[in-house]
Amino acid sequence: MSALFFALFLVVGNPDGAALITLTIDNVPKNHDRWVFAVVHEFGHALWLEHLPYVPNEGGEEARDILSSMRDSAWANNGEPIHWHEGIEGYRIARNGQSGFNKSSVEGNAEGSWMTALMFPITIPYREAFIARHQYLSIQEKLDALGPGSTGN
Ligand SMILES: [Zn+2]
Repeated sequence: MSALFFALFLVVGNPDGAALITLTIDNVPKNHDRWVFAVVHEFGHALWLEHLPYVPNEGGEEARDILSSMRDSAWANNGEPIHWHEGIEGYRIARNGQSGFNKSSVEGNAEGSWMTALMFPITIPYREAFIARHQYLSIQEKLDALGPGSTGN
């Protein structure tokens, strides 16, 4: 039996007030990459981002079940991606800072066969996701609207 961990983050600086992020996660090794995704995803919500594709937090259980089923049966699609989000162009820097991985809807994902948005409404391994460009720009725009110093400009 695996232990359950409870993670709690308080995100301050959001003009709508401090955001409280709570996660209940297990200690199943195969799920660790999904929990990394979940933490970063929740920070996305704290920075005003909504799900891509849009699924409401309340009442979106059926859509979430369908997406979960697709994720969990990806093996049945002969290795081909079941979800490929257009509008992602980025680069994930490796922990050592000496290399990284291309994250592109056009050129491909150097770390996996899926290219999902960070705000995908179910957890997936973080290597299969990256922030969509329009959401990145949205965060930057909103932080800039807060005034000088918000983004270092
Ligand atoms: Zn979410």
